[in-house]
Amino acid sequence: MKKQNYLMKNYLPGWTCTNKRILICLLLLAGNFASAQTRSYKSARLELVPINPSLYVHVSYLNTNEWGKVGCNGMVYINKDSAYIFDTPASDTASQELIRVLQKKWKLKIKGVIVNHYHNDCLAGLTVFHKAGISSYASELTIKTAKQENLPVPQYGFTDKQILKLGNQEIINQYFGEAHTKDNIVSYIPEFNALFGGCMVKAIDAGFGHVGDANIAAWANTIRAVQAGFPAFKVVVPGHGDYGDGRLLDFTARLFALPVTESNASAPVTDQELFNTIHAMDSAFFDAFNRRDLETTMSFFSPDIEFYHDKGGKDDYKITREKLNTLFTNNASNGFRRDLIAGSMEVFPIPGFGAIQVNRHQFCHIENKKMDCGTFKNIMVWNKTGDQWKITRVLSFDH
Ligand SMILES: [Zn+2]
Repeated sequence: MKKQNYLMKNYLPGWTCTNKRILICLLLLAGNFASAQTRSYKSARLELVPINPSLYVHVSYLNTNEWGKVGCNGMVYINKDSAYIFDTPASDTASQELIRVLQKKWKLKIKGVIVNHYHNDCLAGLTVFHKAGISSYASELTIKTAKQENLPVPQYGFTDKQILKLGNQEIINQYFGEAHTKDNIVSYIPEFNALFGGCMVKAIDAGFGHVGDANIAAWANTIRAVQAGFPAFKVVVPGHGDYGDGRLLDFTARLFALPVTESNASAPVTDQELFNTIHAMDSAFFDAFNRRDLETTMSFFSPDIEFYHDKGGKDDYKITREKLNTLFTNNASNGFRRDLIAGSMEVFPIPGFGAIQVNRHQFCHIENKKMDCGTFKNIMVWNKTGDQWKITRVLSFDH
């Protein structure tokens, strides 16, 4: 096919379809008009791998401390003379090259670039795209995070779902929840039942990858939500490694499946308003904890905190801060996080002082390429002064 096109392009104008060459002529013309041609491209920096004549994986390379040179996937979707790009290549130079190939060699109009999440393998080349006058799309969460992290900022945002038009076809960009990052989306192409999953989706037999910003407890559920959100998957493109079909989603959901923990959904609620308040405080406290934000985490503790741990002993404010600092540093990139066991929380009032919180919670991280989780018991005593709730006692046990 490639050779034929080459021949046709270079020699056909001089030909006339005389009887001698009529058969070849017809074959070449039929090949040209019956369907779009399958193209490909490869250089040291960038590769375009055809899935079909309209769909390509673009592969560029990122140098990382942890894994060395890593191939990063994006995607290109073509309809007639227009195209959308999913993720920028991982560098400015590779991005310039992709734009040049699509515009100059393949004669396409680039309608926009869709950013999967705020990491470098998705938006490193965004400035190059903007300079070329190409619009960019991402979730509001990605835009917000990119601003916070001082990264190039995508232009057009959406909250849950966005439908873009490419000729008479559609692209559905949708947010299904936290996984590889808190802002990761997927893009679905109904014409081909194709999904660009980005880093949320793993190639078959891949490992966990970078999980420093991940929510590993939510990951499998998010994948299940993606599976429930679309009718079928004939093509699934992951953030790294080989593309495949719907099996990539099953593989990823299994990889991040958590050990089953029983939940006690009938915990008694004595005072709904107090329960809601303490539940919200617990969420805010452990949200800071899961982000390894030491200052915010410590701000929940009263200066006279007594922290009792059945393996660690009794700690005061200063020691608690030191231990948390060490914990956050040692677990900076293994997906470490705490989740409340659903239905396990009970809250009891302490008149004139505050409340007692009793619950079980699960701590997970990745170790030796395996998910490692433990479920423990927890009691916290909250003190209310004015509008402020502070933790004065922690009993952390059953480790
Ligand atoms: Zn990423």
